[in-house]
Amino acid sequence: MSELDELYQEVILDHNKSPRNYRIMNDANRKAEGYNPLCGDHVTVYLHLKDGIIQDVSFQGSGCAISKASASMMTAELKGKTEAAAQELFESVHKMLTGEASANAATEKVGKLKILSGVCKFPARVKCASLAWHTVNAALHGDSQPASTE
Ligand code: ZN
Repeated sequence: MSELDELYQEVILDHNKSPRNYRIMNDANRKAEGYNPLCGDHVTVYLHLKDGIIQDVSFQGSGCAISKASASMMTAELKGKTEAAAQELFESVHKMLTGEASANAATEKVGKLKILSGVCKFPARVKCASLAWHTVNAALHGDSQPASTE
């Protein structure tokens, strides 16, 4: 394992151990549930939107380390972003995770989230990492159906 991989793993383990914004939000005005049947990951994402800006974002759920760390990192990145910027970030992260975009092109746009880019080498884990993103996307669109990675 390279030093960089080790660093990335440390960050993921840290987010898993002490997830950021891990709570139920009582004044959320958007909310969506997501499920990844392949791994059994379950997540609920809460948003408080005002004037097109994500004032607050939080999540709760149960799942593997990757799904939890990804959700934690996502909430840290999304707070204060406009809906449009959040949408753009979702697209960039999705492309990075599925390996659709070249690592360099994608990581330029996603900033700290490039830590998750190593996941695309493990196809079974891609859905774990993208679950929270699909879920927040559903919340932004006001979908009432739970988001699924299938
Ligand atoms: Zn998982």
